[in-house]
Amino acid sequence: MDFELTEEQKILQDTVKKFMDNEVAPIVEECEKKKEMPRDLIKKLIPLGYVGALVPPEYGGLGLDYISLGILMEEAGRTWGALRIMANGPLNLIPYTICVNGTEEQKKRFIPSLLSADKTGFLAITEPNVGSDASGIETRADLQGSHFIVNGTKMWVTNGSTADVGIIFASTDKSKGPGGISAFIVDKEETTYSATNIEKMFGHAMVASELVFEDAKVPKENIFGPEGKGLKIALTTLNEGRHNVAMGSVGIAQACIDASVKYAKERKQFGKPIGSFQLVQKLIVEMVADTMASRLLGYQAAKCLDTGGRCDRFCSVAKLFACEAAFKTASNALQVHGGYGYSKEFPIERYFRDARGAMIPEGTTEIQTLIIGRDVLGMSAIR
Ligand SMILES: Cc1cc2nc3c(=O)[nH]c(=O)nc-3n(C[C@H](O)[C@H](O)[C@H](O)COP(=O)(O)OP(=O)(O)OC[C@H]3O[C@@H](n4cnc5c(N)ncnc54)[C@H](O)[C@@H]3O)c2cc1C
Repeated sequence: MDFELTEEQKILQDTVKKFMDNEVAPIVEECEKKKEMPRDLIKKLIPLGYVGALVPPEYGGLGLDYISLGILMEEAGRTWGALRIMANGPLNLIPYTICVNGTEEQKKRFIPSLLSADKTGFLAITEPNVGSDASGIETRADLQGSHFIVNGTKMWVTNGSTADVGIIFASTDKSKGPGGISAFIVDKEETTYSATNIEKMFGHAMVASELVFEDAKVPKENIFGPEGKGLKIALTTLNEGRHNVAMGSVGIAQACIDASVKYAKERKQFGKPIGSFQLVQKLIVEMVADTMASRLLGYQAAKCLDTGGRCDRFCSVAKLFACEAAFKTASNALQVHGGYGYSKEFPIERYFRDARGAMIPEGTTEIQTLIIGRDVLGMSAIR
């Protein structure tokens, strides 16, 4: 078993780390305040591999391995949670899923502008009454002549109001239940829908939106994958997404460790640096042990995704463990910083909010637990 990164992966890690520290970290707080994700920053991320990392070179992507993608996610998570969220779905999984499931025409039409970051994407499954159980989608898409007429509301859509292109899931045949769910590519230039951003606890620069489709016309040729196979498409990128969230959480946890070690060496009480007290060391050591374990689980999930086969258990364990560990790590970091941990002058309160947020999307902690339980026991406790 080899625990070493390859030379290429080490170079990538080093380059991305420097870019994040020099170009991104200085603008994070201001962008979070303004609730803005600068498009020119996204363009600068292209040469680093953040856009279309998984898309094969024949479609203009980088065709990176998952360990490399994990390195990108860790460094984004360490620096700016909102950027890590942007890098996961809108910049990566959307062009990738179009590449995997789209027709040649759809690939030619949508992938180039997503890879140049002239356009960005969204993926809309969740609805007001549909969360963990995606099989209950209520949005309808009825074929009328050359268009599907879409009616329904999507919730919590990352990048929803700012994206140019999206993938939505709607029922084309209610009588077939989950087997009647189909996917569609929606282009803002040809389909009209309204978008309202949801005020949320974390990642202020990355919007999550409610999208309302009222008799919205989607051209017939924008159906994505075979009719009735939408749920399968929705589920195909989940393992990739879980690995990305896990590695983003490793990044948040690493940021908490770095800040806490620095603070514990500088802050003095009782005439000594607080880092010299055993109980403060215990807080930091717990953070280090959990983060090292999370990183290894993330790499193991990446290895599985790279080699193929069933990765559900690896990806769900990685997401479950890393998200819970990052939240505990952020809580310990807040404790090490005492009252200043709550202050906006230190980044800890942002890490705390970022870590908590990661426990919900791409399947909640409970859903990951039940996926692992089903895999281990061969019995489903999900429904
Ligand atoms: C910041 C953010 C970004 C998001 N981005 C997107 C996006 O881009 N696109 C998109 O489609 N969605 C997105 N989501 C939605 C996300 O996927 C859902 O919030 C998530 O799937 C949970 O659904 P829910 O919020 O409706 O909670 P519910 O499913 O209603 O769950 C509520 C609680 O019940 C628990 N629960 C549910 N079922 C079970 C069960 N069988 N056994 C035990 N416990 C259970 C859950 O774990 C949770 O604790 C985003 C959410 C957030 C917070």
